[in-house]
Amino acid sequence: MQTEKVIIIGAGPCGLSTAIELKKKGFDPLLIEKGNVANSIYHYPTHQTFFSSSEKLEIGQIPFISERQKPVRNEALTYYRTVADRSNLRINTYEKVEEVEQSDAGYTLVTKTDKGESKQYQSTYLIIATGYYDHPNLLNVPGESLPHVFHYFKEAHPYFNKKVAVIGGKNSAVDATLELEKAGCEVIVLYRGSDYSPSVKPWILPNFESLVRHNKITMEFNVNIEEITEKSVFYHVNGEAREVEADFVFAMIGYHPNQEFLSSIGIKIDFDTGRPQFHDNSMETNQSNIYISGVIAAGYNNNEIFIENGRHHGEKIAIDIANKETR
Ligand code: FAD
Ligand code: NAP
Repeated sequence: MQTEKVIIIGAGPCGLSTAIELKKKGFDPLLIEKGNVANSIYHYPTHQTFFSSSEKLEIGQIPFISERQKPVRNEALTYYRTVADRSNLRINTYEKVEEVEQSDAGYTLVTKTDKGESKQYQSTYLIIATGYYDHPNLLNVPGESLPHVFHYFKEAHPYFNKKVAVIGGKNSAVDATLELEKAGCEVIVLYRGSDYSPSVKPWILPNFESLVRHNKITMEFNVNIEEITEKSVFYHVNGEAREVEADFVFAMIGYHPNQEFLSSIGIKIDFDTGRPQFHDNSMETNQSNIYISGVIAAGYNNNEIFIENGRHHGEKIAIDIANKETR
């Protein structure tokens, strides 16, 4: 079994940043990543523009130069690849951590590579930086698992001249709708809120509202989704039953961390917020020597921790581990 001092699960921006901060303190952590670096960003919509300016996405004080103030997905992928390379990080890619168990010397991890090989590691410290993007929220209505219903949006082209229903009312729903409208789709947005969400970025909303006013996009508020069928979405608005035809449905209703995985390691989760229990000053969870880093710390709220602030978790973790090791 391979023995390590520190293992980080997940090589997203916050896992990478934590690894760099630990290196600055003299550790050489091993990152284990089920895809490749910045795997969540790789799966974003192809033409995604970040809402953060590039310097707010920087990790390890390594400059992120982008063509425009707000970078696009491909520039971010290039940046995080370059950072991983220049920082000489040890990353086992295409390897998923499946189980963690407490042992006398710390924690034992069981992983599986995408070639089906099973591996085991022993580590004194464990940092979980697995984000939330792999676990979409569900509507829990009949028809949600039909093949034309999606929880991720990639590109608009396949939906040209088609009727599309977008469910949700924050940034993913609005971004997808704008792309779909541009590509010539007939789009209706079905949102449970009674007005536009204040979370929608202020530079995006005016264009969206204008398209609604000009009947290029149909916007329905106070929607309660009842059922999705092959041809339609059935819903209620203030108690009134309605139906809209839809060839495709995008349920852009947010994501949540892998609570089952955290609970299986003994990390306590707040039932209402979905937040794992951790100390703010160190990011250490209720399980000794297990830390969390990045957006996983926000539980169900996708609008509290971003790369912008999650990238600083690594500094706290590195200080705490260094202090423990010098005690
Ligand atoms: P992630 O980037 O999600 O990284 C988690 C990593 O863990 C992934 O690579 C995943 O493959 C890996 N992993 C998961 N489970 C396992 C396992 N069991 N074993 C091994 N590896 C595993 N934030 C901003 O600050 N600015 C923005 O402009 C911005 N734009 C966004 C746009 C979109 C469309 C979305 C969805 C989010 C955006 N965010 C933005 C939020 C933020 O980018 C992401 O949530 C960010 O990727 C979080 O970083 P992270 O390192 O915490 O998690
Ligand atoms: P989100 O911010 O969590 O928004 C989810 C939306 O779905 C909300 O409008 C919510 O309603 C609605 N919703 C949630 N559960 C529902 C349910 N069961 N039934 C019906 N509606 C439901 O998720 P997101 O928009 O995917 O954003 C995820 C993260 O990505 C955020 O951090 C966001 O900032 C980021 N993002 C960034 C960009 C960008 O940089 N350009 C683009 C897209 C996303 P309420 O409004 O009532 O809560």
